[in-house]
Amino acid sequence: MLNALLDIFVPPVCPLCEEALRKGALCGDCLDLFAREKIIGPACTVCGEPFASGAGGEHRCGRCASVDPPFTAARSAFLYEGTVRDAVHSFKYGGKVTLGAPLARLICEGTTLPERPDLVVPVPLHSDRLKSRGYNQSLLLARAASRIISAPVDCLHLKKTRLTADQIDLSAKEREDNVRGAFEADGAAFKDKTVLLIDDVLTTGSTVRECSKTLSKAGARVFVATLARAASV
Ligand SMILES: [Zn+2]
Ligand SMILES: [Zn+2]
Repeated sequence: MLNALLDIFVPPVCPLCEEALRKGALCGDCLDLFAREKIIGPACTVCGEPFASGAGGEHRCGRCASVDPPFTAARSAFLYEGTVRDAVHSFKYGGKVTLGAPLARLICEGTTLPERPDLVVPVPLHSDRLKSRGYNQSLLLARAASRIISAPVDCLHLKKTRLTADQIDLSAKEREDNVRGAFEADGAAFKDKTVLLIDDVLTTGSTVRECSKTLSKAGARVFVATLARAASV
């Protein structure tokens, strides 16, 4: 009732382009722009990395064939390009927290993960980073995703205990070193649980790998879902 009244006096707008919104959480034009970056075609059956050529079908990528990653599977809905990249920037750095729910819906619709999780867990921010940014974008995604898939969110028992340098200018190897040992998990919360770990973007994968390693050591089976991923990680 209250929402219906609000819609009359404050008509809903698309949180990305601010055009009037007739239905859904993003307008049709923005959804069309997102669709251009959708990951389709064969990808690594474990880490979800899309293959440049569609010829070989689905199989493990070279990296996953040589070393098992610390998660059971990882999937991303889109490539981190174009409108998707702009949306993530507004969401993460521009304070557009209203994008949380529509982006979480796109994650849930665009990533088919093998089983229903017991818990949805966001990639945590260090408390100092949380103070300066004001919110954890992964937690907003995890909360909205947990409502969509009807699984509880746990944002208390995986913590980032060491403040790390910004990953942006670091190489893949430096990123791995940067986040090593930066997370801690409460074993009792995750023992024998299937966890869906949520993040906005997978760049080299070092952060989700480190979180997954920490969660697996605590006894969890980890699936990773991100909105977007770099074309090659
Ligand atoms: Zn729009
Ligand atoms: Zn792989």
